[in-house]
Amino acid sequence: MNRTESLRRRDKAAIWHPFTQMADWETEDPLVIERGEGNYLIDTDGNRYFDGVSSLWVNLFGHRRKEIDDAVRAQLDLLAHSTFLGLSHPPAVELAEKLLAVAPKGLSRVFYSDNGSTAMEIAIKMAFQYWRQKGSGEGRTTFLTLSEAYHGDTLGSVSAGGIDLFHKIFRPLLFPTRRMPSPHCYRCPYGLSRPSCGLHCADRMEEEVRRSAGSLAAVVVEPLVQGAAGMLMMPEGYLRRLRDVTRECSVLLICDEVATGFCRTGTMFACDREGVSPDIMAVAKGLTGGYLPLAATLATDEVYRAFLGRYEEYKTFFHGHSYTANPLGCAAGLATLSIFGREDVPARVSALSGAMSGSLSALSGHPNVGDIRQKGLMAGIEIVADRAAKEGFPPARKTGQRIARKAREKGVLLRPLGDVVVLLPPLSSTEDEILGLVDAASWAIGEVLG
Ligand SMILES: *Cc1c(COP(=O)(O)O)cnc(C)c1O
Repeated sequence: MNRTESLRRRDKAAIWHPFTQMADWETEDPLVIERGEGNYLIDTDGNRYFDGVSSLWVNLFGHRRKEIDDAVRAQLDLLAHSTFLGLSHPPAVELAEKLLAVAPKGLSRVFYSDNGSTAMEIAIKMAFQYWRQKGSGEGRTTFLTLSEAYHGDTLGSVSAGGIDLFHKIFRPLLFPTRRMPSPHCYRCPYGLSRPSCGLHCADRMEEEVRRSAGSLAAVVVEPLVQGAAGMLMMPEGYLRRLRDVTRECSVLLICDEVATGFCRTGTMFACDREGVSPDIMAVAKGLTGGYLPLAATLATDEVYRAFLGRYEEYKTFFHGHSYTANPLGCAAGLATLSIFGREDVPARVSALSGAMSGSLSALSGHPNVGDIRQKGLMAGIEIVADRAAKEGFPPARKTGQRIARKAREKGVLLRPLGDVVVLLPPLSSTEDEILGLVDAASWAIGEVLG
């Protein structure tokens, strides 16, 4: 048995993979990735694949990027980890300063953790405790969330989420939230279309915030792109109006920039596109350039100050993890942010996303392509059985998975969301690589669906 075969067998004997039907996995020949090189992943048989979803949306500037490698190595010679509970360390301090310098105005404090789910869990707990300690916050205990939302897999972030496929089974364990329909145009929840709708979804959201303000701790959204829902795009102007009405009603706005942060949508943060400053913002995926698990929840001074008091008042935010602010992760984060300082990443993303949308438009005539959605370098191609009815294929056909699998034959790695084919290449991609990615996806769609 060769090495790959042996690793597959041992994987199947010992491992339980995330978001994976293991009964299927056991019948497949999974790839075993051994190395990364720029925008490519290389398996144990030496096959190279373009990393078409940035290793699940985390990688920004490619694998084994010299500046990040060097920074992690240098930090390793100093310290791999020490607790952040009651102690500090240089890379955490420097990263916090750099992060605040690029974050939307008004955010002035960084609370570290180690993944997007915990960053959102923290955001929710922070908002809740803020109002408990604020004095005037009686009754502000609930959260207004969007249907189709995804904020991670811990129970608090699942409570704020709205993807039934992942979340429904856990309903009995979750805290209730108020929910508004996800604002997106392909399947407008109000049956309207743009621009004649006059942004009716934003009107309704405003009404709901005004009506329920007295009971709301915060509104929680993924700004501009609801990623895990299948790259649903918020109509332009919605986020701005949500910020205005939450400010008017003194409701906190929590923006989950875990997926959209660090220039994925073309601006440093998706909020920047509409000049929005949230009260609390979560970042994770791209923070370390896709190297190490590190996350941060950023808060305004107003939120932070509600936690100050005498020791025995116990206004402390009692939350923290063993690996909070891991120094290696912070070093990777610093190196990542310094790349943003040296390179004009937004200009690059703008050119690449232009190339991507140009080549994606060739797919719009395909009878099974229902919708093509893209913002910056986040794109989704929604596959449907019936274009007019916007109806999908039965799940048992695993259309999205089959398309992704097929694309491997063209040397491209994809991970779909149901029947939405996701294209989310590293920001370091070349224009040729972007065109190759779209070509491979189109070819795979053609092969699977005719
Ligand atoms: C991925 C994601 C999360 C969860 O992050 P993890 O690091 O996987 O826990 C939260 N929110 C959004 C918008 C995400 O895309």
